[in-house]
Amino acid sequence: MNDCIFCKIAKKEIPSFIINESKNFLAFLDINPRTKGHVLVIPKKHCTNLTDFPSSLAKELIDFSKETANKILKTVKTTDFNFSINNGKFSGQEVFHAHFHIIPRFKDDKLAQWPKSPSSNELLKKLAEEIKQK
Ligand SMILES: [Zn+2]
Repeated sequence: MNDCIFCKIAKKEIPSFIINESKNFLAFLDINPRTKGHVLVIPKKHCTNLTDFPSSLAKELIDFSKETANKILKTVKTTDFNFSINNGKFSGQEVFHAHFHIIPRFKDDKLAQWPKSPSSNELLKKLAEEIKQK
């Protein structure tokens, strides 16, 4: 996509703080990090999010992300991290080129955990049945 900022980063048309690269992926520092070492992993070829991410690249994504995470964790001296993707505006996705977050976590880092919503076994059972039928 011509006006996609992550496509431009992937093509190195605009600068970024690249920390790892493979045939199909690039990892670079998030310019608004949630914690020290927050990195984005992007496929070089444009796709919007997980819904159109090519499954054929899944193994390379995982291998590349693990390698990248290990480098980050050694650097920022922690063992814990979040690995996530936001899919769509309501989830917090701001750039509509698929990107996977690697966010190092530290003891008492004050970064919010996902809030929990009250539920019950009855509600969970009903929802599970609905989802399985789709
Ligand atoms: Zn793009």
